[in-house]
Amino acid sequence: MKNRLPADFPVKKNLFTMLDEAYVQPEPLGVVLIIGAWNYPFVLTLHPLVGAIAAGNAAIIKPSELSENTAKILTKLLPQYLDQHLYAVINGGVEETTELLKHRFDYILYTGNAAVGKIVMEAAAKHLTPMTLELGGKSPCYVDKDCDLDVACRRITWGKLMNCGQTCIAPDYVLCDASLQNQIVQKIKETVKEFYGENVKESPDYERIINLRHFKRLQSLLDGQKIAFGGDTDEATRYIAPTILTDVDPKSKVMQEEIFGPVLPIVSVKNADEAINFINEREKPLALYIFSHNNKLIKRMIDETSSGGVTVNDVIMHFTLNSLPFGGVGSSGMGAYHGKHSFDTFSHHRSCLLKNLKREGANKLRYPPNSQSKVNVAKFLLLKQFNKGKFGLLLLTFLCAAAAVLFKKYQAVLRRKALLLCVIVHRLLRSNKQ
Ligand code: NAD
Repeated sequence: MKNRLPADFPVKKNLFTMLDEAYVQPEPLGVVLIIGAWNYPFVLTLHPLVGAIAAGNAAIIKPSELSENTAKILTKLLPQYLDQHLYAVINGGVEETTELLKHRFDYILYTGNAAVGKIVMEAAAKHLTPMTLELGGKSPCYVDKDCDLDVACRRITWGKLMNCGQTCIAPDYVLCDASLQNQIVQKIKETVKEFYGENVKESPDYERIINLRHFKRLQSLLDGQKIAFGGDTDEATRYIAPTILTDVDPKSKVMQEEIFGPVLPIVSVKNADEAINFINEREKPLALYIFSHNNKLIKRMIDETSSGGVTVNDVIMHFTLNSLPFGGVGSSGMGAYHGKHSFDTFSHHRSCLLKNLKREGANKLRYPPNSQSKVNVAKFLLLKQFNKGKFGLLLLTFLCAAAAVLFKKYQAVLRRKALLLCVIVHRLLRSNKQ
């Protein structure tokens, strides 16, 4: 019997099922709702959509209303390439999304902030709809004394200022020894010049803040802080210069919420132990970054902390590797996608065991009347894995047949030997008792 589809994958069997067919069949969930955020409005809707389609689902895409131009383009372009009956774009803000969420979906993938994540999860719970929450949080970046500061600062600057800091896995803040602070400020300053020229405001590569609400929120994070670099803002164009804050108090406002802008606080820690404690005292981040030459320290930091993902000696890059599942943990999210993980996320993994109606004799073991010896044999058959493949099965059949032939041929001799063995064992036991 061979009923498997190409995407089905066989699984290990035990002695009870060694002659049966056992496999996992990924099947589509049904209709998937994808709610995207504004900061990467194409990627955050189309990337999950690829996985949903690959797994065989229909999908409704709800782009963020804040990135309205992208929402318009998606609404116009998608029907030109995909069947509108299977893949629909629905636009709108809170009111429309609230209405949409009253419907029953088979899966929801939401990307955005945790507060709305809770609302979406509550709506999903009403229909017992499973979901992935792609949230954010404060992703720490530990810079060890034993590292190449030039390279570290260039990479941190790139990751922090990409999309003007409006990236879910941007390094949110730096943790380092106090003695490194000034050097880091200096090197980031030089890198900003290298990337964006003398006048950052004029650079075509430097973005702006999405809206006035976020602009004002970011401005307020600078209040009372020691600005070591940058700090210029322009409300009319929603420009905020690359900004570094030093000697930042962990209790200050900028350390209480995800920054999501071009502001980099530096918090001093004495060593890696203090950095590990600092990270573990807070919500589990979406990403963790470690810069160091010391492999032992790197391993320890990874082992003693938790985060959605980790990149060592760089930032952002784990996102680009499709073989790695991308997602958060704890308050930074649940579930993951990217590459094959997207396919798995949008599939139900159905367990399939295909038996036939023969070999009923073996089933006597599981039918009443029960006995301890039946339980013992069943335990053995259930727990013993049989993974020898076709060749193993042939070999086993051959050995069984050979054993049967030999048994038949030498039945009389074997019976005599067994009898003799019983007498010896019996005598030994008796002499032991005496
Ligand atoms: P947003 O304002 O675009 O909201 C996200 C989605 O939620 C939108 O489609 C919006 O319409 C919908 N929404 C808003 N309020 C709602 C409500 N009351 N009920 C139902 N739906 C509602 O985006 P945002 O939340 O500002 O996004 C930024 C956050 O997303 C940051 O925390 C960032 O870290 C996180 N993020 C995470 C990832 C990731 O992959 N983990 C990617 C990008 C952004």
